[in-house]
Amino acid sequence: MQNVASSGGYIMGEAVALLEQQLQQYVGVKHCITCANGTDALTLALKALGIGKGDAVFVPDFTFFASAEVVALEGATPVFVDVDPSTFNMASESLEQAINQVADDTSLTAKAVIAVDLFGLPADFSRITALAHQHGLYVIEDGAQGFGGRIGDKRSCSFGDIATTSFFPAKPLGCYGDGGAVFTDNDEWAEMIRSLRVHGKGSNKYDNVRIGINSRLDTLQAAILGVKLNAFVEYELESVNKVASRYSELINNSVKEKNVHIDTPRIPDGFLSSWAQYTIKINFADDPHLLRTELQQRLKSVGIPTMVYYPTPMSKQTAFRGLNGFVPTPNAECLSESVLSLPMHPYLLDEDVERVVKAIVQAL
Ligand SMILES: *Cc1c(COP(=O)(O)O)cnc(C)c1O
Repeated sequence: MQNVASSGGYIMGEAVALLEQQLQQYVGVKHCITCANGTDALTLALKALGIGKGDAVFVPDFTFFASAEVVALEGATPVFVDVDPSTFNMASESLEQAINQVADDTSLTAKAVIAVDLFGLPADFSRITALAHQHGLYVIEDGAQGFGGRIGDKRSCSFGDIATTSFFPAKPLGCYGDGGAVFTDNDEWAEMIRSLRVHGKGSNKYDNVRIGINSRLDTLQAAILGVKLNAFVEYELESVNKVASRYSELINNSVKEKNVHIDTPRIPDGFLSSWAQYTIKINFADDPHLLRTELQQRLKSVGIPTMVYYPTPMSKQTAFRGLNGFVPTPNAECLSESVLSLPMHPYLLDEDVERVVKAIVQAL
């Protein structure tokens, strides 16, 4: 940060170029283009793919608003797809149903799938990508929460035709403000996105060849991320996975011994999560919503903060009122009533985790 300040070069420059190099190397793709935030990263991806009015883009019904907001902002139509109840990620069966429905019942042109790596877990890309490509659709990986995750030895942000991430402070790799990045192996799209992020510049900055946006990563944030990326790679990703294992072990023991109605997150074989959130499910058929509200209140009263990500499925958001429901999304609805995210970060101590689980068991 001092180097940047004393250089006076606050826009782009060496720190940004170096970070982009480190990020593309870590993720294992040909191009990384940083930008101002994770929402702009998605917008840049959609613009590079030429998605707009009359196009349909498939988005999970259970995600952060931005995943679908960007589609509508480009004038395209988000089509909400149900999720898997145990991984919280896009369900390929529901995606297939939605693709067929758009083809049979609408005049929209299906263009792309935005698959989200929710809470740090990569989406089921082997199935989603096969299905999408079979129907001639692009895959955009919204890896805002997924940075650092893996399927086999491939890292998150390398799965989509274009992938995006966010460096918002609460994400797995956060900066001290807003930041984001786009990843792709495609030279043409990479060049287009580099132009789009600076007002659609041509080879000369004052010759604008297309309509773009202003979305650069701050040089100070790039300097911060350079340091934080080292910590993330060297120990944070491993630490946060240890915290998650400890949570699951303690909660699952209590489920067995005390008949506590909670499901811990499921990580499929061969997948690694970067644990943007550690999210449990209240498994109490009568009224999970009521039980969750009471549990949250009791935890709060002993100084333990929790959050509900997300209380409203995309298709029920006020801003999307009037969009036709294309396929039913019962799992997204059920999750919005029953999920609860616990305190989670790489620096949580064993005794913190024990205290949280004890308080949950006691409250229930
Ligand atoms: C945070 C987030 C975004 C947006 O990132 P910002 O940097 O806040 O703009 C997009 N998609 C998902 C799934 C997110 O969690």
